[in-house]
Amino acid sequence: MVEQTKKARKNRVLVPDRYLESVVLLTPDWLRANGIEALLLDIDNTLVSRATQQIPDDVRAWIDLLIAQDFKLHLITNNWHKVVLQTAENLLLPIIYKAMKPLPISPLRALRRLGVKRHQTILVGDQMMTDIFAAKLLRMRSALVQPLTQTDLTHTKLLRNVEKILLGARQPEADRSELDGDGI
Ligand SMILES: [Mg+2]
Repeated sequence: MVEQTKKARKNRVLVPDRYLESVVLLTPDWLRANGIEALLLDIDNTLVSRATQQIPDDVRAWIDLLIAQDFKLHLITNNWHKVVLQTAENLLLPIIYKAMKPLPISPLRALRRLGVKRHQTILVGDQMMTDIFAAKLLRMRSALVQPLTQTDLTHTKLLRNVEKILLGARQPEADRSELDGDGI
């Protein structure tokens, strides 16, 4: 666990600690084994599909599972629209919107609210240049997930090309077989 933390601190390159097909692959067992107590979660295309504005059932079940197991969750989104406040209300989670990731100010505010330290927290999102970069600036651990849909804002589409270069041949982890025991 300590080794993992040391490794994470040394890792300053713009590469996430985990690259996953979906957030639901971040299991409580893995989080606990790595000393993680809190998750800062992006919303658009991480938890909510930009195409349908719906939270997929497995994502909702994963959030419920983490809450039931006493993990601390905080939403943090760059979205400026009030619709994200409904998502937060719906999930009963605290939120910071207009977060301006990758600037560190909002993630730091979320950590203070949750009463956790950076090394106890992982930042999770679907965008390298906002979510993962924010985590790297704060030397926090991070997980990049594949976007729930291909629907993106125009500037995001441009950044996706940069992501492809940064990720190179790395493929997202996609194995869900371990999840059975967690009830998802
Ligand atoms: Mg997003």
